[in-house]
Amino acid sequence: MTATMQALVKAGPGQAGTQLREVPVPSPGRGQIRVAVRGTGICGTDLHIMDDEYLSVPPVVMGHEVTGTVAAVGEDVSEDAVGRRVALETYYVTCGACLYCRTGSPNLCAQRRSIGSHVDGGFAEQVVVPLHNAHDVAPSVGESAGALYEPLACVAHALCDPAVASPGDTALVVGPGAMGLLAAQVLVAQGAVVTVVGTARDARRLAAAEDLGMQAALTDALRVPGPGFDVVADCSGNAAGIDTALQSARKGGRYVQIGLCGKPVPVALDVVCLHELTVTSGFASTPRSWHRAEVLVAGGHVQLDPLVSDVLALSQWEQAVTRTRAGDGVKFVLEPRP
Ligand SMILES: [Zn+2]
Ligand SMILES: [Zn+2]
Repeated sequence: MTATMQALVKAGPGQAGTQLREVPVPSPGRGQIRVAVRGTGICGTDLHIMDDEYLSVPPVVMGHEVTGTVAAVGEDVSEDAVGRRVALETYYVTCGACLYCRTGSPNLCAQRRSIGSHVDGGFAEQVVVPLHNAHDVAPSVGESAGALYEPLACVAHALCDPAVASPGDTALVVGPGAMGLLAAQVLVAQGAVVTVVGTARDARRLAAAEDLGMQAALTDALRVPGPGFDVVADCSGNAAGIDTALQSARKGGRYVQIGLCGKPVPVALDVVCLHELTVTSGFASTPRSWHRAEVLVAGGHVQLDPLVSDVLALSQWEQAVTRTRAGDGVKFVLEPRP
């Protein structure tokens, strides 16, 4: 008899097609580990997957911001790995041979298949991944907050290679969700003076930004410095937020797109040309940005724990999704409970 476990499965269209199911406990194959999940964060991408705005291959166990403890190892993996507290990279398979895989950008590989969308992910009691996807969690990081390494690695990819800010730059982050508050911390680490803005429904998130030592404001009350901000980053993924960011950059400044809209949105792009903005971005993470995430956390430059608003049982996933959609906090983490 195969052991089973509870898992949140994207099985069909829309949020109605997302269900808690009993699925077989996965076994680690050659070069793989099985991780007992401690917590998995709900991300904007998960909402896009539920809403059929981001590619997934149902039926698939969702969840890609995973932290846990190595519970079992497959062939060719040392038993020493068992018991390691880890956070997981999302790539399950890349081709290893294309231009992008060969040049350090496996995030751009066309054959890339990731946990939580293509391959079973972390909204479950156990998840199987290749050993090389596991990164050690710093001892200073709380149990559930390890789930935030993955979004931090994504933000570090968008902001650090190359660095978008220099000491003395002014920076604006639009959208105080988890990505925004991680981006704000990375920009501070680069030496920028950072302002975070959001809308009235972001009150709790703006308070979190202030607790982290940033200036926070409602978008309507945003005070743009004389020439504009040296660096602006959209972490809102909506047209109004993108517009605020574009209009707040100084001439010759830098615009970074981090938020995903999930659908076409009308944006007035002429300002990119008229103000000679440099537009950069970053999709997902790279091995290099995971290294940066580890160093930023271990060095105390980025705090993960304050971003965890609540930890709910996997069975309470609908409540966590509703609260995420409402912006009622920064990051909600689901944990499997017996
Ligand atoms: Zn994510
Ligand atoms: Zn490839």
